[in-house]
Amino acid sequence: MDYQALAQLLFPNVTDTPEMLEEKYPVRQLPEGAVVTRMAPSPTGFVHLGNLVQGLTAERMAHQSGGVLFLRVEDTDAKREVPGAVEVLIDTLKHYGIAFDEGATHNGDNGIYGPYRQRQRADIYHVYAKKLVEQGMAYPCFCTEQELAAMREKQEANKETTGYYGKYAMWRDRPIEDIKAQLDADNPWVLRFRSEGSIENQFKFDDLVKGKLTITENDVDHVLLKSDGIPTYHFAHAVDDHLMRTTHVVRGDEWLATLPFHIQLFKALGFKLPKYVHIGPLMKMDGTSKRKLSKRKDPELALTFYKAEGFPVKAVYEYIMTILNSNFEDWRRAEPDKEATEFKFSPKKLNPAGSLFDYAKLTDVSKNVISKMDAETVYELLLEWAQEFDPEFGEKLAADRAFAVSILAIGRGGRKPRKDLATWKEAKPYMGFFYDEYLETPVFNEKFDKGLIRYVLERFVGSYDPSDDSAAWFEKVKDITTAIGFTTDMKAYKADPAAYPGTVADVSTFIRQAVTGKTNAPDLHTVMQILGKERSLERIAKVIATL
Ligand code: GLU
Repeated sequence: MDYQALAQLLFPNVTDTPEMLEEKYPVRQLPEGAVVTRMAPSPTGFVHLGNLVQGLTAERMAHQSGGVLFLRVEDTDAKREVPGAVEVLIDTLKHYGIAFDEGATHNGDNGIYGPYRQRQRADIYHVYAKKLVEQGMAYPCFCTEQELAAMREKQEANKETTGYYGKYAMWRDRPIEDIKAQLDADNPWVLRFRSEGSIENQFKFDDLVKGKLTITENDVDHVLLKSDGIPTYHFAHAVDDHLMRTTHVVRGDEWLATLPFHIQLFKALGFKLPKYVHIGPLMKMDGTSKRKLSKRKDPELALTFYKAEGFPVKAVYEYIMTILNSNFEDWRRAEPDKEATEFKFSPKKLNPAGSLFDYAKLTDVSKNVISKMDAETVYELLLEWAQEFDPEFGEKLAADRAFAVSILAIGRGGRKPRKDLATWKEAKPYMGFFYDEYLETPVFNEKFDKGLIRYVLERFVGSYDPSDDSAAWFEKVKDITTAIGFTTDMKAYKADPAAYPGTVADVSTFIRQAVTGKTNAPDLHTVMQILGKERSLERIAKVIATL
């Protein structure tokens, strides 16, 4: 077979050569050890936690090493493309602290290794496709859908592995005349790789997450170019990651199955193989067993979920770090005040089997993160969230900034800050009572006589002095307790509850309920300070009127 003639027949318009492309996209001048990596999503519009896990791994590896992180849009499947998906992806990842140095942006490309959208790279792929044909490493295949289906059926009936390989590779060695006849008839064709591999052969391969792998050679003549001239993922991966000078490929481990083919392809094209970082799936506990997080079943897979719940970005970031690197938590304990980016991230610490996602743990991490923020920061973030997801609450927060900040300052600072909030969504149930519109009518424990509660509240109103400090305030509550024959000795009460009609805790609860509408609220002395004497006593008076 005259491969030169075949190449000319298939790609008459390709005049560029691989050498020209090598020159156009030079080896990057970066310090030793710098990692060049990328995110290469298909623009399907759905950004999920897996993207973030991958993105964070890639981002850390690149930026920690003084390298480059770029964004390549894998839009070879036009059918799956959702308009605006690239923008959503860029914005969402940026929101979570992943910024690209290079690649596709809102307005075109940024960088000299582009185009960064695969459909715009058709000419580039064809240069290498032509080269492979010239070397006898690729050939056109004119099989119809029906022929391929019939082949599969036959293989299934014979209990053979399905696929286009060996004796089933119908167009592998067809004479050029047959090919010419098909081309003359304008029949569609795909370009296939001529695999010299054998499933009898195995070799060792080192993956940065999975460790040492034993790989079986590929013997399938996979498709390189589809009938529209657009490459398959495999071919585009090899060409793009070579020309974009990727040193590390960070991707999901669903690509392990075709890794043997990728290795073969890099070799055939004369490209240096990058290092691979195959990330396992995100799992969750379902009853007693683990399963992959699923787009259909688990709303928590979508990144929009965390935004709507109001998890601060920092909390999600910290949590992902916790599941990616098992030593992150220890580091965090030792370095509570450092930025997470100062942690030395290692892909080798990723769990090869995938990471377990635990919502309760995320909540814990988030509580910690929020507890360490100052009141101003909490206010800003909460306001931003509320304006988008609970505008009415947002308005209230915006209307009196100082008031909201003083509420959010409760229990903040000091060595053991309170951990009331895990999400911004929890803020309204927690602090809503400060706003009259959200104040609920208290429901008192029926065990206690209404007249008694009324007496307690009246007496409290009579004695309240806003200049009392917390201790003096509490002394007054204790005085009322004793006056109504309740005990202030909680220990004695616990030892023999029947001996007392009630305790100082009950008395405090009456007052708390009258002021906040709830049995559970932050420190009441502080709450009343923030509300002010007039508003606090007005609230109590209103409750008294119902008793
Ligand atoms: N487009 C591929 C995907 O979304 C990219 C895999 C890769 O990073 O190479 O799975």
